[in-house]
Amino acid sequence: MVRKTLYAALALVIGLALIGYLGRDRLIDASIRGKLQEQPDMAFVANDGRIRVLLCGTGSPEVSAAKAQACTLVSAGGRMFLFDVGDGAVRSLEQSHVPLNRLERVFITHFHSDHFNDLGTLINAGWIWGRTTPLEVEGPVGMRAVLDGFAQSYALDEGYRSANMPHLAERRGVAFGKPLEVAFTDGQRRVRVYDKDGVTIDAALVAHDPVAPALGYVFRYRGKKIFVSGDTEVSPVNMDAMRGADLAVHESYAAHMVRRAVPQMKALGMQFEAEVATRTMPYHADNIALAKQAQAAGVKHLLLTHLIPYPDNFVVRRLYVEGMADYYKGKLTVGQDGMVIIL
Ligand SMILES: [Zn+2]
Ligand SMILES: [Zn+2]
Repeated sequence: MVRKTLYAALALVIGLALIGYLGRDRLIDASIRGKLQEQPDMAFVANDGRIRVLLCGTGSPEVSAAKAQACTLVSAGGRMFLFDVGDGAVRSLEQSHVPLNRLERVFITHFHSDHFNDLGTLINAGWIWGRTTPLEVEGPVGMRAVLDGFAQSYALDEGYRSANMPHLAERRGVAFGKPLEVAFTDGQRRVRVYDKDGVTIDAALVAHDPVAPALGYVFRYRGKKIFVSGDTEVSPVNMDAMRGADLAVHESYAAHMVRRAVPQMKALGMQFEAEVATRTMPYHADNIALAKQAQAAGVKHLLLTHLIPYPDNFVVRRLYVEGMADYYKGKLTVGQDGMVIIL
């Protein structure tokens, strides 16, 4: 009986192996076809009257496998706009299946590296993978110098690839992007930088001393308003940009957690970390002050990003926003990479 069962099992294994071997090519081909047919998510370029906001990076200058640095995608009217592109942002956008070659324009808030580290990857990948027009990259004065620097870094790559692939040589200009610099006249705090088919985007000066200029952006479409803060402390200068926002994608700093951590860092001999933590505190948005300002500005939904310290689980996320609800009565969300908000 046992022997019969063994023979039957052996026959089954051999049979399956034979089917597997004979069907192997078909299986491999099917999996190749599956891979080749993977499509981007065209909802990001849908012209359906909605606004989609994707958090493609909620981290800070800390380099991390768990999240990307600063990155927010806003899409409306069939167009996609990217605000900042820190380290890991391109991979994060890929994970969300964003059709990257369709990006309308990139807006950089300021030139702390965690806001543009992945810009070279984004422009270079666009050129290699079929983008037909140079990607416009807008930012404060200094944008041209930053893009020139990337162009210099990628010049050899551009030469090699162009020599190998005539179609890339034909689109040489796409390899380096197109810089646009936001200029403010004396006393001016806000400039319209985009106005097309119902989408307007204003650049607004925010408070991130000693970084100057540092910009936030105000996005409007079909009566909805979104404020993308960039890096800023909580300051009255941001009130105008925040007022009545349906969504504020705002940088956030849990000062109560950092204050608690600093003495422990010192006790553990982590003087360097304690010094960094103390020095970053004044030029970021303390959560409690932010809650008060969002309430005063009538913000409907406050979406926290650029999270310091990074709350990497449910419990810490609760601690992270402790006390904010005492002052802010609107909807409050702690951002996470890959999160999509639809308005
Ligand atoms: Zn930053
Ligand atoms: Zn910064």
